[in-house]
Amino acid sequence: MKETLFILLILLALLGWTVFRYRKQILGLIGLGRMIRDVATGKTGERLDDPKKTSSIPLERCAACGINVPASTLKRAGDGSAVCDRH
Ligand SMILES: [Zn+2]
Repeated sequence: MKETLFILLILLALLGWTVFRYRKQILGLIGLGRMIRDVATGKTGERLDDPKKTSSIPLERCAACGINVPASTLKRAGDGSAVCDRH
């Protein structure tokens, strides 16, 4: 009985040492597993498609040609209408 306890103690010490020694690899495997689970459940796609997190540039219609261009590139005419840089 005493020998069994001694062997168990040695095995536990070896297990603890192994976990300590390869903790980075174990954490990497856990992260990889989490990533695979996220891809399988489609969580990553939801994150990318989230409209709150995607940035957008406000577009405005050119009064002369009717093309939508970024509002920052529009030139304001005297009457308040906005035209693109081609006019
Ligand atoms: Zn235009």
